[in-house]
Amino acid sequence: MSAVTIPLAAGRTRAAPPVLSPELLARMGAPGPRYTSYPTADRFVEAFGPDDYRRALAARSAGPGGAAVQPLSLYLHIPFCESICYYCACNKIVTRQHDRAAEYLLALDREVALHIEALGARPRVSQLHLGGGSPTFLSDLQLARVVSTLRRAFSFEADAEMAIEVDPRTVDPARLERLAALGFNRLSLGIQDFDPQVQRAVHREQGFGQVELLMRAARPLGFRSISVDLILGLPQQTAASFGRTLEQIQALRPDRIALYSYAHLPERFKPQRRIAATALPTAATKAAMLGEAIAVLAAAGYEHIGMDHFALAGDSLAVARRRGRLNRNFQGYTDQPDGDLIGLGVSAIGRVGGCYSQNAKTLDEYYDALRQGVLPVVRGLAPTRDDLVRRAIVMALMCQGELDFQALSDAYLIDIRSAFAAEIAALQPLAEQGLLSLDRDGVCVSELGWFFVRSIASVFDRYLQADTARARYSRVL
Ligand code: SF4
Repeated sequence: MSAVTIPLAAGRTRAAPPVLSPELLARMGAPGPRYTSYPTADRFVEAFGPDDYRRALAARSAGPGGAAVQPLSLYLHIPFCESICYYCACNKIVTRQHDRAAEYLLALDREVALHIEALGARPRVSQLHLGGGSPTFLSDLQLARVVSTLRRAFSFEADAEMAIEVDPRTVDPARLERLAALGFNRLSLGIQDFDPQVQRAVHREQGFGQVELLMRAARPLGFRSISVDLILGLPQQTAASFGRTLEQIQALRPDRIALYSYAHLPERFKPQRRIAATALPTAATKAAMLGEAIAVLAAAGYEHIGMDHFALAGDSLAVARRRGRLNRNFQGYTDQPDGDLIGLGVSAIGRVGGCYSQNAKTLDEYYDALRQGVLPVVRGLAPTRDDLVRRAIVMALMCQGELDFQALSDAYLIDIRSAFAAEIAALQPLAEQGLLSLDRDGVCVSELGWFFVRSIASVFDRYLQADTARARYSRVL
């Protein structure tokens, strides 16, 4: 397997990569959080409600600089999908009744209005992400309405990043042109696997030609970054079939690739009950596929961004990674500054002024709150000082793959080495397995460790260390 290049801060070195064996995958691939936040969303509490969230919003405009503070990111959740993919673990509503979206958009209008009322200003926005479900379940007219509602309420920066998740089965080049006209400049395409047998087994059939047509049309339309999702470990997948998918992906040359590992949790996610465990590739096959994928992507010029994300060297995510400016939010890795994120829509999660919040998970609850003129927040968390220090540590590991003990001690006015002596000692066995190097100055995750970085970060997760029931999480690999 060829090595994946991981740029390092000046003066640090990484150990040579050991082999990614099935034994290591079994040992290190235990279920764990993906750390899109710390504390993770399953630690949010109902004691944090709409009033707390409203106060966090109001404080944003009241601080020094008021509405001129760092621009916001917006996430908008569209929960509807026309058909079910059997591997799905998302919060979605499967329906062919497109008129259901009309009521949803009215509720979104109310939610946006309540935000503006609480913010007391028209804040700047540097990033919008439409996710789901399937945002392209909405008609062009509905999407235009959503964008104009947001543009009226918020002041979008001229170069704002506007991303939309696209189900290739619902979009053609003419539709892409209309998305570009609305201002979308980033696309995220759900591909998973091109093999027809695998696609049938997961109930998501979309030909290579269909995706190729979209990607070729997208470039001249001005989409400046195209990312694709692939899933490793799907039913009927073999090393040979996945190898063919990788060849096809190389031909398409997306800017970013997310290579997720399928987590089979049928007791938690009902659609997965249609997947027979016997149809899944074995751990050894999965390890071989992953090894091959890493080699192929590295040879094709993709840099390993972190965990399961890869990007071409010129992509803004890879540039941010090299410059130590990578961040992580609920949409995964981002090159945007570590600022406030407002989550809109059913089940959406946000972070404002350091506080996390999550909206109601069912449409009924979400609609009810908004009918009463209340922000639909049902859970959240105001972090303690301990949470904030650990958040900085977890994110430094997840985004930079490094910990600088002195810099952290200076920033948080505590002696990190003694305050986290137990956690640092717990890293020693990981160092012995070649996953990181550890000395008096800090921690540096190795190339191999980069695949298990969430397991490494979890050593500092106070909540997880106190909780042995981890079955609700997906496996690391
Ligand atoms: S995987 Fe995506 S498109 Fe498929 S059912 Fe789930 S949310 Fe919908």
